[in-house]
Amino acid sequence: MRALAGVALLLLAVACAQGAPLAGDPQPPPPSPAVSVRAAELPTAQPSAPPAPPPPQDLDARSSELARRFIILDGHIDVPHRLWSSRDKAGQLTEDVTARTEKGDFDFPRARAGGLDAPFMSIYVPAKLEAGGAKKLADQLIDLVEGIAKKAPDDCRIARSVAEVRENAKQGKLSLLLGMENGSPIEKKLENVTHFHGRGVRYITLAHSKDNHLSDSSYDDRHTHKGLSPFGEKVVGEMNRLGIMVDVSHLSDDAFWDVMVASKAPVVATHSSCRHFTPGWSRNMSDEMISALAKKGGVIQINFGSGFIDEKIQKAESQRWKDRAALLKKHKLESSDPKAKPLLAKFEKDSPPKFATVAQVADHIDHVKKLVGVDHVGLGSDFDGVGDSLPTGLKDVSQYPGLIKVLLERGYTEAEIEKICSGNVLRVWEAVEAFAGKR
Ligand SMILES: [Zn+2]
Repeated sequence: MRALAGVALLLLAVACAQGAPLAGDPQPPPPSPAVSVRAAELPTAQPSAPPAPPPPQDLDARSSELARRFIILDGHIDVPHRLWSSRDKAGQLTEDVTARTEKGDFDFPRARAGGLDAPFMSIYVPAKLEAGGAKKLADQLIDLVEGIAKKAPDDCRIARSVAEVRENAKQGKLSLLLGMENGSPIEKKLENVTHFHGRGVRYITLAHSKDNHLSDSSYDDRHTHKGLSPFGEKVVGEMNRLGIMVDVSHLSDDAFWDVMVASKAPVVATHSSCRHFTPGWSRNMSDEMISALAKKGGVIQINFGSGFIDEKIQKAESQRWKDRAALLKKHKLESSDPKAKPLLAKFEKDSPPKFATVAQVADHIDHVKKLVGVDHVGLGSDFDGVGDSLPTGLKDVSQYPGLIKVLLERGYTEAEIEKICSGNVLRVWEAVEAFAGKR
């Protein structure tokens, strides 16, 4: 819900509060014929004939097989915040993602169905906590992820290195990775970078929706530091020294360019898409920025939210939610008021939301590939973070195979698909580990 600015933020907050829609499980692949037509036509008098070549695999089966075989790493999944914000009055979690959950985009059974191996759990700290309490919340959210891992030790582990991700994948275990969204929890103390490294955080998104003490944000017009602050530059150096990836998603353009100079290791954009498709919207990355990121060896992990993917949908949805807010205002109702329910139901019926498609997400991957090559693109869904705005065919973590299918249809090789699924980001992470190890 923290993806879009202004009204869109509000609309997505509401969307999140309502929970993301249940997505259907992927269609099971149709059974393959036992023998090919050619083999079936062979005269029965030739029992010693070599076995017929395997029938051409249908793309559904092939994409599911690749999703199972390749490590799939997703740069940004907001499930910790989803669980945190839906706690009951006693502070207990109301959802257990180690089992199938009714709400949300992520749980273990769906992750398994989609072939997901290594989701970065977003340790998201709202910008307002820059005033106080940011570190405390980040620690509580890390505790929450550790609690999930403790609950299902046979299914998952928290992974702190590329080697651990690979080992867990070999054992069929989900690697829960920690990425901190917003640098506010550093709270002006360099030693807190060490603290969060010790707790397993392996990337930090320097800012979120507002400028903070490290960096300017793409959503904030104040341009407080005109890029990174001097302390933010020091934090980037400290992250390099310790082996934490720098995440440039959410940063202002000035701050992005400062990171390009300040970071001695490759960096990632964990959940941003291409500005080419959303001209003028600085939350996505321009071609110049993607080129600079690639030149440094980095990777852009494509955000799936429809507003990130399609400018027309972004504008239409923004208008739709303005209309929704105006309707509530007219009737002097809050959206949470039970009396608003029939009103909102009619509004939803009359003005249903619009969604991008899985093919359009692939268009962003194509764009990066054409611009800088296939070595610089990955996946950063923002599942559980963009509310009910996910593309048709990519509604939750069970549906990565649908995206792989589109890439196969477009002629991507298996080696290319493996790079997109995780190989590229693991390469960056390894380079960051190696840089830290050298020092
Ligand atoms: Zn975000």
